[in-house]
Amino acid sequence: MIRKTISLLLAALLLLSLLSASAEEEVSAAGENRICLLCGSEYPGGACDACGAVEGLWECFDCGIRNCLPACSSCGISRQDSVRKTAACGNLLLAYPAVRYLAARQDAAALCALAGYYRSGVILPRSPESAAACLEQACEKNYGPAFLEYGRELDRGDFLEKDPRHALECFLRAAELGVAEASWYLGVYYAEGVVVTRDDARALEYYRLAGEAGDPDSWMSLAWCYAEGRGVERNIEMAVSWYEKAAEAGSAMACDYLGYCCMTGELVPRDPAKALEWYEKAAALGSARSMMALAVACEKGEGMEPDPAQALSWYEKAALAGRQDALAPLRRLSEKEDD
Ligand SMILES: [Zn+2]
Ligand SMILES: [Zn+2]
Repeated sequence: MIRKTISLLLAALLLLSLLSASAEEEVSAAGENRICLLCGSEYPGGACDACGAVEGLWECFDCGIRNCLPACSSCGISRQDSVRKTAACGNLLLAYPAVRYLAARQDAAALCALAGYYRSGVILPRSPESAAACLEQACEKNYGPAFLEYGRELDRGDFLEKDPRHALECFLRAAELGVAEASWYLGVYYAEGVVVTRDDARALEYYRLAGEAGDPDSWMSLAWCYAEGRGVERNIEMAVSWYEKAAEAGSAMACDYLGYCCMTGELVPRDPAKALEWYEKAAALGSARSMMALAVACEKGEGMEPDPAQALSWYEKAALAGRQDALAPLRRLSEKEDD
């Protein structure tokens, strides 16, 4: 009797696990190979060849507990939801198994993320071919951000082969799919006449489109169009207000440029004290150009009393942020200090 009950129970459990497995396998179109959710390795089934984890073992993103069943025994989150959270957590090492797992199931966002692994060479060896293949698969799913990313790669040409014509197609498709940043690229292509005939009015239209969707790069470009009178009548007030909008949104480049304007009297009346405020904002946002400008201002006493110690500290920060031209004054000032 007991034996019969146990075998019935086992049969029920087996059925249950088969049912839940088949529900999830449907999502796995590829199916031929499994991705280990603990280490991200591909294995044929049974247990992971690399780390030994049994098939289906996963770690709950929220409570860190390892589970075999499709829901976490502690918090109840489903495997799929936990995997999605892990994939989106922003930590390359932690996210990797989840990204591989979802990419093998043709998830477009995961395919894009996997392309990023092939680009960075973190965990996976750098491979332009594999990255391009991932992006193409994600594009086939009509995933807008994949078209943007593919377009960017083809535009930069430092990883994939440069192909502005193909990049333009990608940006057009991404813009159609509602990716605002793609419109900014289209603006740049029309403003510079890359692959297309230069068309300032059209460039401005694209910048505006992206700007309305909240892309700060586009506010910078709009400001530039107004300042230069490109595609629109020259309007310095409008230019400055777009720069300020970008600066307020945290664009280091905009803060730096406003600092430059206040220091030189370009676009606005000269105001060195105000310039220092903008430069400080930009430097806090990581602008090496502004660190350098602050160093020079401190050394020469622009908008303030000369302050060699402060100048030295800004030259040092600028050098650490990659400004080669900060090295000579850094050496000169530190020698003076030693005297
Ligand atoms: Zn493994
Ligand atoms: Zn949990």
